[in-house]
Amino acid sequence: MSVSDRSEAQRAWRRLEALAACTDEPGRITRLAFSPALKRANALVLGWMREIGMTASIDPAGNVVGRYEGLSVDAPTIMLGSHLDTVRDGGRYDGPLGVIAGLAVVERLASASRRLPAAIEIVGFADEEGTRFGGSVLGSMAMAGIVPPDWPARVDIDGVSAGKAVIAFGLDPARISEASRRQKAPLAYVELHIEQGPILEGRDAALGCVTGIAGALRAKVTVSGKAGHAGTVPMDMRADSLVAASECILAVERVAKQFQCIATVGQIRCHPNATNVIAGSVTFSLDIRSLEDGSKSAAVADIVRAFAAIAENRRLRVETEVTSNTDATLCDARLTGIIRDVLAEIGPTVVELPSGAGHDGLNMAHIAPIAMIFVRCKDGLSHHPDESITIDDLAIGIDALSATCTMAAAG
Ligand SMILES: [Zn+2]
Repeated sequence: MSVSDRSEAQRAWRRLEALAACTDEPGRITRLAFSPALKRANALVLGWMREIGMTASIDPAGNVVGRYEGLSVDAPTIMLGSHLDTVRDGGRYDGPLGVIAGLAVVERLASASRRLPAAIEIVGFADEEGTRFGGSVLGSMAMAGIVPPDWPARVDIDGVSAGKAVIAFGLDPARISEASRRQKAPLAYVELHIEQGPILEGRDAALGCVTGIAGALRAKVTVSGKAGHAGTVPMDMRADSLVAASECILAVERVAKQFQCIATVGQIRCHPNATNVIAGSVTFSLDIRSLEDGSKSAAVADIVRAFAAIAENRRLRVETEVTSNTDATLCDARLTGIIRDVLAEIGPTVVELPSGAGHDGLNMAHIAPIAMIFVRCKDGLSHHPDESITIDDLAIGIDALSATCTMAAAG
């Protein structure tokens, strides 16, 4: 494996800093989908792509796409990339890292006048975080040809529709479907991304091989009991929704551990919400994730059974409404095999781990085999201004992506 010199990582680092300066909110990094800051970020990436000898343009869904031809004009395509949008008050690396590392891979080839048996495309997706238009992941959905028909009608918190935002971005919402790559699907989609968790740091590994992207079930749970005065209803005559909800949440934790799923109750609301009133009803969120769809289903069934037992015991009602449920997406076996070999050359241990968070690969998997490499981040922190990686890990990440790309292109 060729080893990057320091100047390559430093150039990538400066590019990440330049992207961080593209923000919709001064003093923070906020680059929402189809915002003026994203437009500036797209322009920067477009410029760098052309500088290093790629043909580049913005596709009809606002994604930046650059192409470096392979040995022959009809060579297949390996796509590297990630997203350029961020959450509000986000960090420098979640997203841009995969785009900038991809650029470094191509720059290394171009400066050696080298071409691979496959063309390389770098993509910077315009909308992955879903911060602006309610959970949408439009950039890669458009590329995979699976944009929901109601997408242009969705509105942001200022009442601006997604369709209008696309027009303000200089694109035509009626032509988004033209971004689809179903007809010219890549041979592989490989994304380098920060881990967004503490596993690699804990294992003292710069990089990890992602086994797949976990499926996620989200539900709203409503516990309905009986409100009453805090000072007058005896303890054994209560149908206290908040106490029952607490027991339910403990059951979620217990069952999730048993089935090796990851479950979170992140939001809870009490009605009434007063210090001197027994809660009449409580709603809480439930988020369960797993790479094993069967484990997730079994855990959910067990959780619902536990809720029913708690409801009967406490003489109240517990209702669970599933609001969304996605299956897990496994990374491609051949590509993860390549990444494992590449990582084995870098360090003594190869860490394999699932991604609990969603990524563009979820959509790209509809049209191409996907793989991901995670880069260690400080304290496992992401979606936060303190998101941090080291320049050494960046250099190792570029090397790994480069080696993966070369081996994947060799077929
Ligand atoms: Zn991301």
